[in-house]
Amino acid sequence: MFRQITEARMNDIHIKYDEHSGLKSIIAIHNTRRGPSLGGCRFIPYPSFDDAVTDAIRLAQGMSYKAALAGLDLGGGKSVIMMPEGDFDRTELFSAFGRFVDELGGRYITAIDSGTGVSDMDIIATQTRHVSCTSASGNPAPSTARGVYYGILSTLKVHKGFGNTLKGMTLAVQGLGNVGYALCQLLHRDGARLVVSDIDDDKVEQCIREFGARGVNPAEIHSTPCDIFSPCGLGGILNEQTIDQLQCGAVAGSANNQLLTPECGEQLFNRGILYAPDYLINAGGLIFVAMMHARKSNEELNHRIKGIGETLLQVFRRQQQQQEPVNRIADQMAEAMLFGDEIRQLTA
Ligand code: NAD
Repeated sequence: MFRQITEARMNDIHIKYDEHSGLKSIIAIHNTRRGPSLGGCRFIPYPSFDDAVTDAIRLAQGMSYKAALAGLDLGGGKSVIMMPEGDFDRTELFSAFGRFVDELGGRYITAIDSGTGVSDMDIIATQTRHVSCTSASGNPAPSTARGVYYGILSTLKVHKGFGNTLKGMTLAVQGLGNVGYALCQLLHRDGARLVVSDIDDDKVEQCIREFGARGVNPAEIHSTPCDIFSPCGLGGILNEQTIDQLQCGAVAGSANNQLLTPECGEQLFNRGILYAPDYLINAGGLIFVAMMHARKSNEELNHRIKGIGETLLQVFRRQQQQQEPVNRIADQMAEAMLFGDEIRQLTA
C-alpha cells in the first residue's frame, strides 16, 4: 500500500471498521495544500480491501487535480464504503460514516458519488457539518453543463479561430442525461446544429422535438462528421478504435475519464484533434458543490464557472507552445499548483 501512497503523493489514508453498523470505509486525502479535501463517497461492492484502497487513492488524486485547475481553495479527497454482503441498515451505516468524517475535523468534506445520493448525505449531515450535496444544496448538473458550454466556446476559438458564436456549428452530443440535455439547451439557444444519441430513445425524441436535433445510432455518434464531438455519457469513449474513426475537429464534453489510457491523448494529438481535458471542462459541478458548501453568491459561482473557459484557453496556448498532448499539459499545470515548491527543489 505504501508504494501506491508514495507514487500518488498522498497526504494520508484513514480506515474505519464500525462493529455495530458493519461499516468498512476508507477516506483518502490526497492533498490539502490549497484547502480541505473535498470529494464524493462511493458505495459499491469491492472484491477486496486492496481494490477499495486503490480506488480511493486514484479518485482522491483526480479530485486534487480537478480542484486545483478549477482555482478552488480545496484539496482532493475521496471516500469509499465497501458495500456489505448481507443485510444492512443504511441509516446506521451512513450515520457511522458521518461520525468517521467528523473525526477528521474538516480535513475531508464528503459528497455524492456512485452508489450514494442526496438522502445518504442528509443522514451524514446528522453527524457532521463536513458534508455537501444534501437536499438543501441543489443539483450540480446544470453548472457542469454551463462549464462545458464555456469550454466549448474556448475550444471553438482555438479550433476555428473565432469565439463566442456557435451559430452554424455542428455539435454531436453523446448522452442526453442531466448534463447532456442541459448542454443541448444552451447550444440550441446559441444556434448550433445538434446531432444527438442516447441508449434511451425517449431522450433522443425529446431533443429532436425541442431542439430540431438529428438523432443517430449510439454506435455511430463518435464517427459523425461535426465540428465538436461532446461525450456526456460514458467514460473510456476515446480509445484506440474510436479515435481512429473520429470525424471532428475537437472533443469537448462532460464525461469523466474519457481517455481510456493516457496514451489516447497522444493519439488525438497526432491526429490533430483538439481535446478539452475532461477533469478541467467538467469542473462546473465541483465548483457548484464548493460554492454551495461555502455559502458563496450566485455571482461568484457564475464567475468561476466562466473561468473554466479561460483556463482551457491557457492550456491550449501551452499546447501550441510545447507541442505536447493536452492531457499531459493539464496534469503538469495541476501538479505545479499542488506541488510547486517540491518540483522546483527536485529540478534545481
Ligand atoms: P446521467 O446518468 O444523467 O446521463 C448519462 C446519459 O448517458 C444517460 O441518458 C444514458 O442513457 C446515456 N448513455 C449511457 N450509455 C450510452 C451510450 N452508449 N451511448 C449514448 N448514451 C449513453 O449522467 P450525467 O449526470 O448527465 O453525467 C454525464 C457524464 O458527465 C458522466 O460521465 C458523469 O460522470 C460526468 N459528470 C457529471 C457531472 C454532474 O454534475 N452530473 C459532473 C462531472 C462529470
